[in-house]
Amino acid sequence: MEQPDSDTAWMDAGNCRSVSPSVFFPSDGVGVEVARQICRDCPVKNACLEYALVNRIDHGVWGGTSERERRRIARRRRVGAEAAERSRPPA
Ligand code: SF4
Repeated sequence: MEQPDSDTAWMDAGNCRSVSPSVFFPSDGVGVEVARQICRDCPVKNACLEYALVNRIDHGVWGGTSERERRRIARRRRVGAEAAERSRPPA
């Protein structure tokens, strides 16, 4: 099982550092788009997305992705890891 990622130094460089956190926990699709616009050219977008994926953060917009998009990414990674495991030759 993956350990929670406690390295959050990248957060200080995010485009959202001066934006209300509530913007990143929208209640509808319009709100998600507003948050994504802020994330779009964020210099720490990848670190932010990985943080949310590794820590299984369900809510909010992280790394420019919605909750649904992160679930999809996590599912794809799981399926890929399982396929790699199955194709590994026996020890
Ligand atoms: S990607 Fe978005 S939520 Fe993540 S640090 Fe950048 S602006 Fe903030």
